Amino acid sequence: MNSNQSIGKPRHFGSDNQAGICPEAWEALEKANRDHAVSYGDDSYTAEASNLIRDIFETDCEVFFTFNGTASNALCVATFCQSYNAVLCHQLSHVATDECGAPEFFAGGSKVIGLEGRNGKLKPDIVARSTAHHRQLHFPRTSALSLTQATEVGTIYQPNEVKELCQVAREMNLKVHMDGARFANAVVALDCHPREITWEAGIDVLCLGGTKNGLAVGEAVVFFDTKAAAEFDYRCKQAGQLASKMRLISAPWVGLLQNDVWLNNARQGNARARQLEEGLRAVAGLIILFPVEASSVFVRFPEGLDTALRDKGWIFYDFPDVDGTRLMCGWDTTEDDVNQFVADAIEWAGMKKSP
Ligand SMILES: *Cc1c(COP(=O)(O)O)cnc(C)c1O
Repeated sequence: MNSNQSIGKPRHFGSDNQAGICPEAWEALEKANRDHAVSYGDDSYTAEASNLIRDIFETDCEVFFTFNGTASNALCVATFCQSYNAVLCHQLSHVATDECGAPEFFAGGSKVIGLEGRNGKLKPDIVARSTAHHRQLHFPRTSALSLTQATEVGTIYQPNEVKELCQVAREMNLKVHMDGARFANAVVALDCHPREITWEAGIDVLCLGGTKNGLAVGEAVVFFDTKAAAEFDYRCKQAGQLASKMRLISAPWVGLLQNDVWLNNARQGNARARQLEEGLRAVAGLIILFPVEASSVFVRFPEGLDTALRDKGWIFYDFPDVDGTRLMCGWDTTEDDVNQFVADAIEWAGMKKSP
């Protein structure tokens, strides 16, 4: 079924961006490639992909296709923050820890404020209290809130949790951005309509992830607050995020969004993470750090197991911020990949017990 299963090597748990292009996106790209079409997004593929996003969200949103998540997030922050403003987010968020200051840069110096919260999630009371000590004119005025769905540690905000956070944001006069690099994984885990965890709950703009979901490259910035999108095309162009051969970015989106491919891809990642968690629970001394609700499993290995697995050739990354290791599944992760990894871990644990 998977186009790369025939290679015969196991897939790693390093990241979902280590996967290739899913077959449906590849096929759509191949089709668009045979065409000769107008540039800079004035083509029929881009129109179709935008309309599919409007259908999926059941609203008349403004859509922009970009190359990656960092730029998408940063340009959204810049939309809502003047240089003297601040954006609130979780302290583990990509915006705060993984973008080399791009939000601050594109927003002309505005401040990114990372807040605490269990399991990678913000809580309304923490958000509400967070600005109390800001000394008015002497501290950047907070103008935006950024949520990540699914979160950086593989947990998920329930629809009512998104709603409550957006309500607090409204009371504080903040616009709300959602980093949805793994938005599809949240939708399938919640089995909800995409609108329920976005505009219906109060989200103003969503960065909808395509890369980790099965594209070669590409995210979609989806403005539900359409007024805020007014000059976003200029921001994209200035930031080098306007593809001249746009159809080669947008056509794969069509392949991904038709026939629920994006949801099935996410379902695969989520299911494999669940399988991985269950398998690893049999390894003595291994701790699962967060509820496994999306496509990642964060673990603390018993001493020596990480080295043993790496020696066997497995690739995965440590996350010092949570004193653990992330095992990430994707659309291309197979049951066999998980079984092999778990078997290697269990074998190591068995050898430890009876040397
Ligand atoms: C991967 C990821 C992004 C996007 O990263 P890029 O490498 O810039 O595409 C954004 N947010 C989160 C939570 C991510 O995991």
